[in-house]
Amino acid sequence: MWTRGPRQLTNNDRASPNTRCQRCLKLGHHTYQCTNPRPYVPRPSRTKQLALGGGVGGRDKPSVEVPEEFKSSASGMGIADKILKAKEEERRRAEEKRKEKERQSRKRR
Ligand SMILES: [Zn+2]
Repeated sequence: MWTRGPRQLTNNDRASPNTRCQRCLKLGHHTYQCTNPRPYVPRPSRTKQLALGGGVGGRDKPSVEVPEEFKSSASGMGIADKILKAKEEERRRAEEKRKEKERQSRKRR
């Protein structure tokens, strides 16, 4: 092999077939010689963090976890309607209970 020659140092600069690029993780070239775009970005993008309701910089995760219901119903009808209905129903039930109590107390008196 010619690598045994006196100019072995130049081999350092050359990318051997075993040289793995740390950027695109492909063989055959050095990282600083890489011309390929990164195939995979391990970090979530900044826009995604903002979309999750961050707004405050420097935090990795939003303090409040978004329930699955919220995520899935983003395009459909608002979950707010459901919550409002539920609360309304709850209020109605509480009122009914109160009226019932009133009736009972009236009966007793
Ligand atoms: Zn590369």
